[in-house]
Amino acid sequence: GRCVVAVDGPSGSGKSTVSRRLAAGLDARYLDTGAMYRAVTWAVLRSGVDPADAEAVAKVAGEIDLRIGTDPQGYGVTVDGVAVDADIRGPEVTGAVSAVAAVPAVRALLVARQREMITHAGRIVVEGRDIGSVVAPEAELKVYLTASEVARARRRSAEDAADEAATAADLARRDRLDSTRTADPLQQSADAVVLDTTELGIDEVVARLRELLTE
Ligand code: C5P
Repeated sequence: GRCVVAVDGPSGSGKSTVSRRLAAGLDARYLDTGAMYRAVTWAVLRSGVDPADAEAVAKVAGEIDLRIGTDPQGYGVTVDGVAVDADIRGPEVTGAVSAVAAVPAVRALLVARQREMITHAGRIVVEGRDIGSVVAPEAELKVYLTASEVARARRRSAEDAADEAATAADLARRDRLDSTRTADPLQQSADAVVLDTTELGIDEVVARLRELLTE
């Protein structure tokens, strides 16, 4: 039957790994909404637009053909037919994505796309920052994953093979921008189950979520 799981939280909280594994185990679709904001950012940078120029950013977002798959085992992201999966994880996009994601017109556009994809999926795990609060407030299960700053920086720098101190500074900067923006800031929805993953393994978190779904 229909089932929407909303997974929100800051980066490095384990969101992506947990969401993908949960989706694969449930034989559900998976939607990485962060990848959509990253893809718009990639297009903004490609077109030479200043990420701080909200009007120009909104125009780029409205003109591109953005596509994203929903297979938890491997989804592709394309912009105007170009595969951007690797580039959207790079430092240029990561450095500019919070500014792009703060533009209300960009959010309106992507939230509408996300809702449409959710409507067409029977079962889906959706991860992001505003899923439980804005995109899918009707979700059967809402989870908010957290982890200590140290644990988050360690996980992210292991993924990117980057310096841990630099990663910690970048995470702190993005969290601040993401939680203080005016449009749909990162926030815990009141009805979300909060799980601190600092001391938990991925499998333990996934198992806990499966328990919550059957309760
Ligand atoms: O999850 P990820 O780190 O890939 O997200 C990249 C950025 O996209 C976040 O820092 C945030 O600015 C933005 N984002 C958002 N709303 C979402 C998902 C991501 O604003 N639902």
